[in-house]
Amino acid sequence: MSTPLLQIDLAKIFHNASTLVARLKSKGVSVTGVTKAFLGASQIANTLLRAGVSSLGDSRIENIEFMRKSGIAAQMILIRTPMLSQTDRVVASADLSFNTELDVIVALSSAAVKAGKTHGILLMVELGDLREGIMPRDVEKAIRTVQELPNVRFMGLGTNLACRNGVSPDNRNMAELSAMANRFAPTDTSAQLIVSGGNSSNLNWVFGGGEIGCINNLRLGEAILLGREALNRQPINGLFTDAICLMTEVIESSIKPSKPWGTIAQSAFNGASNLDDQGYINQAIAAVGRQDTDPEGLHPPNGIEVLSASSDHLILNARAKKLVVGSTVSFQLNYGALLHAMTSPHVAKTFVGSEVIGCPRPELQTLPSAAQIFQSQT
Ligand SMILES: *Cc1c(COP(=O)(O)O)cnc(C)c1O
Repeated sequence: MSTPLLQIDLAKIFHNASTLVARLKSKGVSVTGVTKAFLGASQIANTLLRAGVSSLGDSRIENIEFMRKSGIAAQMILIRTPMLSQTDRVVASADLSFNTELDVIVALSSAAVKAGKTHGILLMVELGDLREGIMPRDVEKAIRTVQELPNVRFMGLGTNLACRNGVSPDNRNMAELSAMANRFAPTDTSAQLIVSGGNSSNLNWVFGGGEIGCINNLRLGEAILLGREALNRQPINGLFTDAICLMTEVIESSIKPSKPWGTIAQSAFNGASNLDDQGYINQAIAAVGRQDTDPEGLHPPNGIEVLSASSDHLILNARAKKLVVGSTVSFQLNYGALLHAMTSPHVAKTFVGSEVIGCPRPELQTLPSAAQIFQSQT
């Protein structure tokens, strides 16, 4: 086993995704499975599709291109406003993109004309979190502009909250989005607008009896992969929170003082350390560090505490039990740690659990290597 290793349980991801899809379906809300935290790996993308997500969304065109090359035929949405420099690629691979800039939409229109295609436009509306979005007063004009341009089609409205400032989805901001969708709905009722209310941070609102109004779609990444809602990071009832774990190997285990000695200045990543003197402890080092993940986002198993981390060393207090050199310590991850580990070329990836959901045999499959990733960018 090559470590650090992310072990990805496809059966648990399938369970999380299908459970959320079913619960949201009962509210009339479809799920776009968000693939950015795993670079569009086809094993996970296909698992989400089998679980019933209606489309796949990613913020990077490279990941969408990668999924297309892997033969995935689902509807794919670029959920970050396209770079002006990438509009040809966006039209070539994504069916739909989230947009906030008229110049970009004009370029998408030209690219779509050139490619002989129609590209869907969903306009993102700013509702207070102050990340992406058109200010509400400018939405009508933006819709008119899209409707006048050739080869692009206005397909819906969306918003994104809780990512920059933690502004929570509630009846007020969701009703504002619904009201806009109502007002600008096409008179042709066969063309229902997509009204995409948000991300994993919307689940407390939806399942807490929120007034759904016209909201008919959510984009979910974290809740599917980690089984937690994104406002307070509480486990979601009935979902697995351990679908993905990070396995690491112990490379040193020694009884050491808890307090450093000598003249203390700054360390590699922090100011001068100020550790309580707990006497001697069972200190261990796991061979993983800031090049691989976000150590602050690792949840150790019971009885083990993360003390600190540098580029390649994770320092643990194993408390009562001395860890054996060569043994494995497995961590759960928060979203930041997961994102970092998934996209680090130093972290191997393995898939388990696929036979339970009828996927092809789970050979040791890996995500694109760094070489492949960098190649595809040149
Ligand atoms: C990342 C992202 C999502 C998914 O967010 P999760 O919290 O992982 O569910 C949804 N929408 C947009 C625009 C995003 O960038």
